[in-house]
Parts: sequence; structure tokens; C-alpha cells
Amino acid sequence: MQAGPSYVPVGHGSPTVYHYINPITQEHVASLLPPDHPEMICLQSGQHVRETNFGVLGILAAVIWFPLGIGLCLLDRRVKCKRCGHVIDGGICN
Ligand SMILES: [Zn+2]
Repeated sequence: MQAGPSYVPVGHGSPTVYHYINPITQEHVASLLPPDHPEMICLQSGQHVRETNFGVLGILAAVIWFPLGIGLCLLDRRVKCKRCGHVIDGGICN
């Protein structure tokens, strides 16, 4: 038996913890990020907004060493989430 309350964080500035369920993996996630945070929108929808970016070096290589450079351009490709910025595919070089 314990007399009195144990340590309970009270007062201002105590962070709110949000709980989410990943709809794909059914995984429970506790996060300090609010539901309208881009990363949490991605988590709740279970997917990222894929956006393919080509690195500057890859594009330069494609122009200078055309047509062989196109291979280098593809190596410097990055797939990123448009919404939260999460790198889905960092390319072969990275
Ligand atoms: Zn995302």
C-alpha cells in the first residue's frame, strides 16, 4: 500500500501525448506531434505522398555525358514524401 499520490507531473508545460494506430500495420504509436502535423497525417492515412526528385549532380551528368549520363541521373534519384519530407527511397548513391 502506498500512502499519498506517487509522482504525477502537474502544471503547465507538461507535454500532451497523442496516440495513433497505423492503419496498415495496426501498430500503436504514441507521439508528441499533434494530429494535424504532416508526419501524423501520413501515419494516419497509412501512406506518404511520393515525389521523385533528381539530384543536381545527376541532371548535370545527364546533360554533359548524354546519353550515358542518364544512367547517372537515375542513380541520383530520390523519392521523398511531399507532405512530411520523409525520404522513402534515397537512391543507390546514398
Ligand atoms: Zn509522409
